[in-house]
Amino acid sequence: MTTETTYQLLDGKQTSNDIKEELAIEVEKISKSGGTIPHLAAVLVGDDGASETYVNAKVKACEKIGFKSSLYRYPSSIAEDALLSKIEELNNDDSLHGFIVQLPLPDHIDEQKVKEAVSPEKDVDGFHPENVGKMALNLPTFISATPYGIVQLLERYSIETSGKNCVVIGRSHIVGLPMSILMARKAKPGNCTVTVCHSRTQNIKEFTLNADIVIVALGSAEFLTGDMVKDGAVVIDVGITRVKDDSKKSGYRLVGDVKFDEVAPKCSYITPVPGGVGPMTIASLLKNTLQAAKSS
Ligand code: NAP
Repeated sequence: MTTETTYQLLDGKQTSNDIKEELAIEVEKISKSGGTIPHLAAVLVGDDGASETYVNAKVKACEKIGFKSSLYRYPSSIAEDALLSKIEELNNDDSLHGFIVQLPLPDHIDEQKVKEAVSPEKDVDGFHPENVGKMALNLPTFISATPYGIVQLLERYSIETSGKNCVVIGRSHIVGLPMSILMARKAKPGNCTVTVCHSRTQNIKEFTLNADIVIVALGSAEFLTGDMVKDGAVVIDVGITRVKDDSKKSGYRLVGDVKFDEVAPKCSYITPVPGGVGPMTIASLLKNTLQAAKSS
């Protein structure tokens, strides 16, 4: 028998605004004391609508809290060598503390090469293998923005993770993989028993039904349905899929990987889409940039 619980929304929008306010206060203090104002640069290749939206949001967020920001745009035809040269230039630019190369990149550019070209000290996206390794070893580093945002959300809502069963659906290098490592680390939040599910997993429901925490990051709209979660679960929805919707001015709406109406009533906590993980990602990137500026 299922008993419906009253769920609490994990409000990423509010939490990220709180973090941004804290950062703005810190920037003001730095500015008053004549310290170094954090400077983030973004590299945008091509004209993918979603990437453009994300990069613009990052630049805008920087301006709002008093960071400096720079945006470098290139056509999708840019050669891999030319992009790598630009990255080298940014690595050596002392006026910058951190930079990101917005993914995905066009097919002719090797993303792994790009991630490895960014200097680990300026890798505020936390994608460089050195930083991923440090994260896995629980050493100070830049944690990639989306998983870092989720960890902060769990922390700020005081959600107990120690000893819990956590299922992460997805094992991408930018979300699922680091997320599973963070949840298993001997840390707070962390100390979970983690199961990673992916496209080859047989019968995902068998795993999710046993999970106290489900983190869904596969990019398949409304994949996680009500019958797949147990009562009282904490559900984190990372997915963002654009679904055609003529009633919207933009012509689409954003849908998560969770069938919210079915899943939410069974949860103790759940993130909405939009307004959950997305805003936390930007706040985390800003936190990483401040950290980069402080250690420069
Ligand atoms: P990705 O690179 O495409 O990885 C998807 C992962 O899901 C892969 O590990 C894949 O398994 C697994 N998967 C695919 N279909 C599956 C299925 N039917 N059952 C189980 N696992 C399946 O995607 P991503 O970059 O991690 O992004 C995932 C979603 O999060 C997307 O909707 C993306 O837009 C969103 N996202 C949101 C934010 C944010 O700030 N909110 C940030 C980043 C990404 P294999 O490894 O076996 O292929």
